[in-house]
Amino acid sequence: MSKTYHKLKSYLSKMRMFHIYQPLLLIELIKGNGKTTGNNIAKSFLSYDETQIDYYKHITKIMPFKVLSQHFKELKRVKENYTFEDFDLTENQKEELIDLYRKKLNQKIDKTGIKKIFGHRKLSSGVIPGSTRYKVLLRAKNRCESCGISNDKKQLEVDHIIPRTKGGKDELSNFQALCYTCNSQKSNKDDTHFKKILDSYNHRKKGCIFCDISKSKIVKSNELAFVIKDNYPVTKHHCLIIPKRHCSDYFDLYQPEINAISQLINEMKVELQKKDKTIKGFNIGNNSGEVSGQTIFHCHIHLIPRRKGDTNNPRGGVRGVIKDKQNY
Ligand code: 5GP
Ligand code: ZN
Repeated sequence: MSKTYHKLKSYLSKMRMFHIYQPLLLIELIKGNGKTTGNNIAKSFLSYDETQIDYYKHITKIMPFKVLSQHFKELKRVKENYTFEDFDLTENQKEELIDLYRKKLNQKIDKTGIKKIFGHRKLSSGVIPGSTRYKVLLRAKNRCESCGISNDKKQLEVDHIIPRTKGGKDELSNFQALCYTCNSQKSNKDDTHFKKILDSYNHRKKGCIFCDISKSKIVKSNELAFVIKDNYPVTKHHCLIIPKRHCSDYFDLYQPEINAISQLINEMKVELQKKDKTIKGFNIGNNSGEVSGQTIFHCHIHLIPRRKGDTNNPRGGVRGVIKDKQNY
């Protein structure tokens, strides 16, 4: 009796599976008489990966089907079923055409290189360390930061907001989690909507004091936002967290900017409480619109440290924006 057979058979009852990888790898080795390649194993994993299949089902609808159905009125789709009407080819004609289309396909692969053709997929998932991906997904609470769909429904991809090629850094505030639909729309070069959003991160307004802030005033920053001290502090260490892009109020912020601002608020909280032990609480506030009291029309969030006894009766806090209504 084969020793290998026994070993492999007895492992079946011991195998603790965290994923389906182990049996797939062993199946490949058994199929190959004890030998296989990383390529075979990866292809075998891929054949089970429904999320990848979903991705290509979606791509088919939005890209080749769209183009081809404009050209061929016979081409129809009902949900996941594709039909070419009046299809009357002989076997020989079918073979000939498949051969010709394969030749075209191979010409494209030879010219561009298969790695480059699928390069956009690699960029959106491969080069970002797992620990960063994990932090971004955790921050996004496993939901697409553009449309809100959950990771269970559509695979989320983590990628740069400002691309590396445009000087974007590898830091948390420059990453976002997008579902593959939002991400593929974003990476589609023809999609002017997403290109406009990307360009708009550079928007600065002439004459705006927060757009024009001198570097020496910046206490802390990340890719999309920065912190300065308030010139007329309500309490000691009162600071302002400001998006780099000029936008007038909170409601104009993009989700990645909200993330970047939130990250800075949290970091400042920790730093301030470390250096000033008298700080026991904070008010986080934003005035949106002149009627609410806004005086500088470049969005900013106030982070106001609070100390015991800094006012006679703190009860109600931000309710105090309307005098006499603070305490209830
Ligand atoms: P808002 O009323 O628009 O919510 O808040 C504007 C804040 O900016 C105020 O708290 C004010 O003290 C602060 N501020 C006004 N001018 C300057 C300035 O030139 N530099 C800094 N660092 N803060 C300012
Ligand atoms: Zn501005």
